[in-house]
Amino acid sequence: MQTAPTPHPSAAIDWDALDALKYQDEDTAVAALLADLPFDPAARASVNAEARALVERARALKRRKGVMESFLEEFGLSNAEGLALMCLAEALLRVPDAETADKLIAEKISTGQWAAHLGKSDHWLVNAGTFGLMLTGRVVNLPDELKGEASEVVGKLVKRMGEPVVRAGAMQAMRILGEQFVLGRTIDEGLKRGAGMVRQGLATRYSFDMLGEGARTNEDAERYLASYANAIDTVGADAGGLGPHASNGVSVKLSALHPRYEARQEDRVMRELYPRMLQLAEAAKKWNIGLAIDAEEADRLVLSLKLFERLALEPSLKGWEGLGIVIQAYQKRTRALIERLVSLSRRRGAPIQTRLVKGAYWDGEVKRAQIMGRTDFPVWTTKAATDVHYMACARDLFRAGDAIFPQFATHNAHTVAAVRRMAASAGRDQFEFQRLHGMGEALYLAVDPPPQVRVYAPVGGHEDLLPYLVRRLLENGANTSFVHSFLDDDVSPEIVAADPIAKLEANPHRHRRLPPPSQLYGASRRNSTGRDVSIKEDREALVRARATLNDPTPTASAADAIATAQSAFKEWNAKGGAARGAILRAMGDKLQAYHDPLVALIAREAGRNLQDSIDEVREAIDFCRYYAAEAERLFSGARALPSPAGETDHLEMHGRGVFVCISPWNFPLAIFTGQLAAALAAGNTVVAKPAEQTPRIAELAVKLFQEAGLPKDVLQLVQGDGKVGGELVGDPRIAGVAFTGSTEVARLINRTLAAKDGPIVPLIAETGGLNGLFVDTTALKEQVVDDVIISSFNSAGQRCSSLRLLFLPHDTADETIKTLMGAMDTLVMGDPAEPVTDIGPIIDAEAKANLEKHMARMAKEARVLKQIDVSHLGGNFFGPALIELNSLDQLDKEVFGPILHVVRYDPSDIASIGAQLAAKGYGLTLGVHSRLESFAEAVIDAVPAGNVYINRTIVGAVVGVQPFGGSGLSGTGPKAGGPNYLPRFGEERAVSNNIAAQGGDPQLLNL
Ligand SMILES: Cc1cc2nc3c(=O)[nH]c(=O)nc-3n(C[C@H](O)[C@H](O)[C@H](O)COP(=O)(O)OP(=O)(O)OC[C@H]3O[C@@H](n4cnc5c(N)ncnc54)[C@H](O)[C@@H]3O)c2cc1C
Repeated sequence: MQTAPTPHPSAAIDWDALDALKYQDEDTAVAALLADLPFDPAARASVNAEARALVERARALKRRKGVMESFLEEFGLSNAEGLALMCLAEALLRVPDAETADKLIAEKISTGQWAAHLGKSDHWLVNAGTFGLMLTGRVVNLPDELKGEASEVVGKLVKRMGEPVVRAGAMQAMRILGEQFVLGRTIDEGLKRGAGMVRQGLATRYSFDMLGEGARTNEDAERYLASYANAIDTVGADAGGLGPHASNGVSVKLSALHPRYEARQEDRVMRELYPRMLQLAEAAKKWNIGLAIDAEEADRLVLSLKLFERLALEPSLKGWEGLGIVIQAYQKRTRALIERLVSLSRRRGAPIQTRLVKGAYWDGEVKRAQIMGRTDFPVWTTKAATDVHYMACARDLFRAGDAIFPQFATHNAHTVAAVRRMAASAGRDQFEFQRLHGMGEALYLAVDPPPQVRVYAPVGGHEDLLPYLVRRLLENGANTSFVHSFLDDDVSPEIVAADPIAKLEANPHRHRRLPPPSQLYGASRRNSTGRDVSIKEDREALVRARATLNDPTPTASAADAIATAQSAFKEWNAKGGAARGAILRAMGDKLQAYHDPLVALIAREAGRNLQDSIDEVREAIDFCRYYAAEAERLFSGARALPSPAGETDHLEMHGRGVFVCISPWNFPLAIFTGQLAAALAAGNTVVAKPAEQTPRIAELAVKLFQEAGLPKDVLQLVQGDGKVGGELVGDPRIAGVAFTGSTEVARLINRTLAAKDGPIVPLIAETGGLNGLFVDTTALKEQVVDDVIISSFNSAGQRCSSLRLLFLPHDTADETIKTLMGAMDTLVMGDPAEPVTDIGPIIDAEAKANLEKHMARMAKEARVLKQIDVSHLGGNFFGPALIELNSLDQLDKEVFGPILHVVRYDPSDIASIGAQLAAKGYGLTLGVHSRLESFAEAVIDAVPAGNVYINRTIVGAVVGVQPFGGSGLSGTGPKAGGPNYLPRFGEERAVSNNIAAQGGDPQLLNL
């Protein structure tokens, strides 16, 4: 029975303070680690010797390798076959149709030299797997040039058997492989098999994890809740009342229990997730077994701790010693976490089971910090730092005495030796080791006397388990991983069990190939930094910055602005790229310094949510720095060209004159600043006309340009509507136009320019798109749904890159649509300046009316699958909608808002469907979700697009990384934020000098 949760107590422990340490300087933290080592020299030497001995003893064991170790030894990540297998294992079992399964098998198998692995492993399963895959390589419709490694005999045999048999064989091989890492498909199966392992002395007890991707919908979360509850009851009934330390337990991932387990959604997590967790904890307490909360991404740490504190102090859980938490040594702030955990335990009056791991998401943390422009990584960048920190954390856990029941999860001999030594010195025997099922068997068999080892055992169906398995393999197959070389006789025990302290002492610095995110782009430009909305203090700073909208200052007339800009041109152009670049860099720094007020103003004036606004400020900064570097590269003096003797030839680039820049409201800062920065970098003076909906952001940006040192006359702001734009474009004095907006207005501008006498001026236009994303049956549903939600509904669908058309294969469309609709239900609509908000309003009433008109037509002609009800919000809010089209003919034009159209199709018809989409004439963004490279190629071949995104969202192009812009009805090119952009704003001059005119070429004569 579930008791009512207590009201959320005011947090007695300041968990948010841990965020102040999240991005701490690594070198300083390493110095602190080294200054307070857990061992004196003698203890250190004995740990090192014991670690080596463990390796030697494990290698000498008869039954020494699990299938995981054998698999890694034979394949690993360093060869094409290993990677092909991972890709196959990750995707094959979810593919429902034979044709795609065959293609996937053929494509992955063709990348390897399978025969080279045949019979090489000392594990029969690995050999059987290799054999099966080699057969597959012979028969599944492989192109001729890819065939030819299996023997003739095998080939003939397989030809007799036929393709379906081979496909079934490959599927079976994947299942068998997967089963080695998963204890059972159900918890009963897991318990039964686990008991057998205990009898064989391979484990003391288990912690079961119910496998699966995180919840995307409330329905998913309810399903996982039921599955965890069932696991707890089954494990509990089997436990015999031995208590949490002596019996099997269960591990829980909070991301499985709520679709929005995010720091931004703290209130909701406490309201909706917490009762679920409490229900599970109360059930575990009833059986008196252990229940551990797994550690996930660093951005979720503080939220998970707040939830954990509430559980720990829950009266209904008082006295229960099975409440457990996982902490990660790869995070730099974990010792401060332990300190707080100990004080929580003391308040609680019962020990907390604390599992110390190194951490499973290291590469993900690094990537995320780089993408989000964090001040640094939340994790150490060297393996040695993680290892030494693990020891320091282990010492802290032992020092906590009976406040903590420590659990050390590792497969590393040195780590095991170090922990054992610390336990001995502290006189502690109340602790346990933990390992993952399928790994580390030999290591723990080699420990004498046999320690208490709890095995973490995944339980679940084959389709769910394989993506998980692949993650485990990737994590443990990396060269830095201990498991990778533990049992490899070619690597000496001294190297395998090398002392991490010595490594860290030898190099007490961050990894030299992993500079902080700010240095991602090397010396040429600094990466922008954005606030981290998973941190409370950052969220509060943005809320504090909340903007008010004052009336914008009136600006000069179009004609006057052009005259002023024209008068300033010569001097500005003469400055050269380097001097102009310096001002742009200063502007980048100004924008960075104004991060918070800009974010607040964008949220208020343009209705963008906080994360979109942060990303936008960062993009504006990146534009300034990127074009500064480009100005230095392209506009700093003459470039020498190959010349005949007696002559010098040079090419120089200059500004053209006055550029008119007309920008839209949907990226009121980034596109506005980007156009200006490019035009200015190339030596032009600028008359800028921002969208009439967002005049204040433009005004502030211009003010910042001036503060950054831009001479006032060089940049003229003209506020106004389309009429003012028309006056600017029609003026005979202008030398170029940069425009971002609708295709219709771009046409109008083009005609106006063409109708003028005088020089023909260039138009750089970036317009809309009818952007499609093609999914096939190899794609992972959860990844598709995540990326589709962001691509279609972020920024209320008001991006030219937004997803408009989702193409789903018949075989999996129903399931994907169902999850998509469930995920739509979890979106938060509301005030964009509030951190919880996912989607703000539509820009104005006119735009909203257009969307409503489209919905009315679709309701008649197509099928509206879902629209979120936003009637309670009023104003310009518009509920995100999902529409199923009967045919592609029903949509010809971009509809600028949160409306996603779905089309069911057969991926083998991609050429004809792609041609239909291409015939609409657009070419901006295009997405593919597939594990088949050949499918991605076919999509790219069929549909023209300026920006193609594979297995990710189709929005969020990064300056200098994904240069942005389309073709056809989507724009003229060149791409913003790319290497070919600035030249289009400039003019070239070739200077040829006959230096022999004076009578000879001195250089030639002095040869
Ligand atoms: C019982 C059990 C439960 C687990 N539960 C969780 C959990 O809830 N959450 C979770 O995140 N993980 C969990 N893990 C996974 C665990 O994090 C990995 O198994 C562990 O990191 C591997 O460490 P090792 O000591 O076995 O191997 P080692 O090979 O010694 O260490 C590998 C680890 O070192 C770290 N590392 C690698 N390269 C670098 C680098 N360049 N810089 C810094 N660090 C680096 C990474 O964490 C990597 O996983 C669990 C593991 C076990 C055994």
